[in-house]
Amino acid sequence: MNDKHPTIVIFFLILLVGSEYMAVPSAWPFLTGMQRVIVVILCMLPYVFLYLATYSDPGTISMGSLKYHLSLYPYDYALFHPGAQCYTCRMLKPPRSKHCPICKRCIGRLDHHCIFINNCVGVGNHHWFFLLLLSTALLTSYGGWTGLHVLGDRVIERFPSWSLLPWRAYKAADSDSAVAGTVLAAAPRKMKFDMWLMYLSWGMKNFVHLGSVSLLGILISPLVWGLLAYNLWNIWTGQTTNESLKWSDWKYDMDDGLVYKRRMSHERRPAVVAAIAEAGVTDTLSLSTRWPAEAEHVLVRSEDGNPPAPNREDLPGVGEWERVWTLRNVENLYDLGFLNNLKDIFIPNYQFNTNGLPPAERRGRPRRRVPMK
Ligand SMILES: [Zn+2]
Ligand SMILES: [Zn+2]
Repeated sequence: MNDKHPTIVIFFLILLVGSEYMAVPSAWPFLTGMQRVIVVILCMLPYVFLYLATYSDPGTISMGSLKYHLSLYPYDYALFHPGAQCYTCRMLKPPRSKHCPICKRCIGRLDHHCIFINNCVGVGNHHWFFLLLLSTALLTSYGGWTGLHVLGDRVIERFPSWSLLPWRAYKAADSDSAVAGTVLAAAPRKMKFDMWLMYLSWGMKNFVHLGSVSLLGILISPLVWGLLAYNLWNIWTGQTTNESLKWSDWKYDMDDGLVYKRRMSHERRPAVVAAIAEAGVTDTLSLSTRWPAEAEHVLVRSEDGNPPAPNREDLPGVGEWERVWTLRNVENLYDLGFLNNLKDIFIPNYQFNTNGLPPAERRGRPRRRVPMK
């Protein structure tokens, strides 16, 4: 389980190919032209995005790409601190990066390692992963819904008083083979649910492939929409799954009164440059991130609940330490608002408007809180 293995990807592909092979041919003759176009497109998209999410580089950090990854985000002095190293890769950890124990490498803006794509979801492929979720959600719900309607129409052809909606199905007046006119002429009575199920199972039995695949699609789609919603929530709040877990840890320490913050001094840039130079990256003076904001506070955990001494040289920031009781009182540097967060995910190396100002002078962006855990 600790190595990359394509088992789940193969399983996912078999499920996809098998379901489409079983359901599409039997539903095809009953589909309208428009439905056929939609079905063909929706069937193809998950393969395209699965391929792109699986085979594109999620953002592997190497000596060669380290400088690039350092230029993407600033350190927030809460979850990510300058100078932190990955002891496995023996390399500096750029902000928002994390070592993946399964891929055995550090990944830029790592969200999580996903077994469905046998790859990490990171800065390089998050957009493909998101589109894979979206296209799969659309396929399962549209496919399930359309399949069930095709099946329902076949049942109604045979038993006209039936309906796919149980509360709109009527009891046939005399026999099941009654035609629509005679059924409606008699005073219609609501069909009991067990009768409704019996007619449905007649359809299932006669269109067993279409029926089972449609049911599967309808059952799976809430799960896929749920995953997509969770992903959207993370984009909305400007955090990765990894960062969300880290913030949860901070919250527990805040509840225990162990967390303090103080203002960042604006002369912190030399500290970052020194740490980066120490890690062997040259040309650090030209290093500047494209992010339109920098950390305003530094966050520390105290061992005993007492604030660190105000004159401690090894800790960044200036002034008095202030105890932080809740996530409401800290800022998420990586949240620029939903639209900008989306741009950051979907447009590689999106250049935010930094007005040509040095990071410390960039002001005016809305301050975002860390979402409550
Ligand atoms: Zn690493
Ligand atoms: Zn991984």
